[in-house]
Amino acid sequence: MKCDLCADSAVTFVRYNGSHLCSFHFREYFERRVKKEVRKEVSLYKGDTVGVAVSGGKDSMVTLHMMHQLFNEKNGIRVVCISIDEGIEGYRPPSLDIVRKYCEENGIEYHQRSFSELSGLTMDSIAPVSGENSPCTYCGVFRRKLMNDEARKVGAKYLATGHNLDDVAQSVMMNFVRGDVDRLARLGPHTKIRPGLIPRFYPLRMIPEKESLLYAMVSGIPFWDGECPYWSEALRNEYRDVVDSLEDRSPGTKYSIVSSYDKLKPLLSKDGEPRDVKFCECGEPCNGKRCKACEYEDQLLKKIE
Ligand SMILES: [Zn+2]
Ligand SMILES: [Zn+2]
Repeated sequence: MKCDLCADSAVTFVRYNGSHLCSFHFREYFERRVKKEVRKEVSLYKGDTVGVAVSGGKDSMVTLHMMHQLFNEKNGIRVVCISIDEGIEGYRPPSLDIVRKYCEENGIEYHQRSFSELSGLTMDSIAPVSGENSPCTYCGVFRRKLMNDEARKVGAKYLATGHNLDDVAQSVMMNFVRGDVDRLARLGPHTKIRPGLIPRFYPLRMIPEKESLLYAMVSGIPFWDGECPYWSEALRNEYRDVVDSLEDRSPGTKYSIVSSYDKLKPLLSKDGEPRDVKFCECGEPCNGKRCKACEYEDQLLKKIE
């Protein structure tokens, strides 16, 4: 099969728009959409810092690569890669090696934080005592805390994460079906700045997962594709199947789920309402007296002893 735009052979068939693209034209098509999304979500100027949350998986590596391509010495915008070591033996260390090496080779600032800063916790010690909660619940809360803390420390104006179209479409469907309108309203990108919380944005938000993988491969971006031993979000997997089968029957469904959400968001968003901001003793913004991470930390320490 030939590329629709040149004489080279196609590396992909984009089903939702019926085009065959070679590796050069696929990359161009991909980068154009990422740039468009970034322009839509954030405004960065000379002297600004942008953080990128990187685990070493394909989506976060592609995000890091794109951010470094868009923001660098040329426009005076500083990119900081932030990784979190959750303490998962055999899984996290090799992925962090990939990230560190990529940063070294490309002259990107690398920052690493670790769960062990939280009273020596690791996911390997948390998982066996997580009880009714999925280990992912703790992992997510601690990861967000450390990530936000580091992003704040480096003075990041925004924090980019690797969420792709599939992730966002699944989250929208999941919260909609469960009637969790509050959570639905809180899905990023965040448009209003809240004190202490670095706003997140998603450069790959309109990029299907398949295309993110293909882009990493044709661009020679290294990534780690191991599976987390504690990953067991049954509910999310269910929605993945639902969204995938809808997409299968009518290509373009994932886009329409996300763009419908974008049209509805201004109507359900409490984003703009001023909130009573409180801060936990650890420095994180929170709703109650203490943040969720500190609460979990205490609970877990009692169970682990
Ligand atoms: Zn071509
Ligand atoms: Zn706290």
